[in-house]
Amino acid sequence: MPPTGRLASRESTPSATEPLKGDEFLCRTMTSVGTADASPGTVDTGRLEVGETRDGSTFGLPVAVAGPLHDGDELNGVGVVRRVVPRIDPDELAGTVIVVGVVNYHAFQVAEHRNPIDDTKMNRAYPGDENGTSSERIAAATYDVARNADLVLDLHQGSTSRMIDEVRVRCGRRHRLHTQCLDLAKTFGCGYVLDQKGPDGQLARVAPSDGVPAVDPELGGAVGWDEASIAKGVEGVFNVLRGYDFLSGDPGIEAQTRAKTFDQYGSPVGGLVRFHHDLGDRVSADETLFEVTDVFGELKARITADNDGIFWRSRRLPQVATGEYVCSVGKTVDTY
Ligand SMILES: [Zn+2]
Repeated sequence: MPPTGRLASRESTPSATEPLKGDEFLCRTMTSVGTADASPGTVDTGRLEVGETRDGSTFGLPVAVAGPLHDGDELNGVGVVRRVVPRIDPDELAGTVIVVGVVNYHAFQVAEHRNPIDDTKMNRAYPGDENGTSSERIAAATYDVARNADLVLDLHQGSTSRMIDEVRVRCGRRHRLHTQCLDLAKTFGCGYVLDQKGPDGQLARVAPSDGVPAVDPELGGAVGWDEASIAKGVEGVFNVLRGYDFLSGDPGIEAQTRAKTFDQYGSPVGGLVRFHHDLGDRVSADETLFEVTDVFGELKARITADNDGIFWRSRRLPQVATGEYVCSVGKTVDTY
């Protein structure tokens, strides 16, 4: 049985009278979100109103109904949405795809990571509070849609370092929906999965507790607008649409490389870093990960891996101070 069979069959007989199932929120029934109202066979875009900006203008999040989420500086998710929505042909779609194109509205306006209104990371605010802080209200408005979906893809980008393209499973390995979330990550299929319980307030951790399988694809590091990562994200969304029978066709499910935790490495000295690996390389315990030289090329330190694993994430710029973050190795690696 394909790993997606369970969910695909669960809702295989859509009913037009079912309540909204809906973050990229994939659901089975055509519906409206905010001012976007898609009758069967159409795609519509509009706004999901949340509140007012500081000058009193009302603002709403851009939404499309026919079917992601991200932080304010994580633009690859927007890159995916921009390409996915025009490619969805509602005539070929079984079910509804609801897309919230920009969730961290205020941060997006100023190209920052945190919501500047309350200095909060959006993805710590779920399930939100409709009477709460700015971020909590946005979380509540979007979660109201997400909790009724059959599946949630919460598109993100990693930190301001170079990072592997990965899908994060955040519900925790003992969660009752863990297998469904792992299946969803495998179907998205960008090659790497981090299977580690997330912090409180993450959408991909909260939604499974309401019975909705959810994953958090991290499309590269948040160091810009990265074509290769966007392309993987687009492919991943269509893999899911096919794998869960929203679209016909073969999702092309392949084994994923999974890590359950990380070793993080900092620099013991100041200087310039030289890596010995590319992202995705296998590393063995005691193998050199990186060297630090002074500006004239003299070797100051050589840092070796503590454990076997995969070179997962690395700093973007070469210069480091003592104690500064350098790289991460994913460990307890397997394939599934
Ligand atoms: Zn994020």
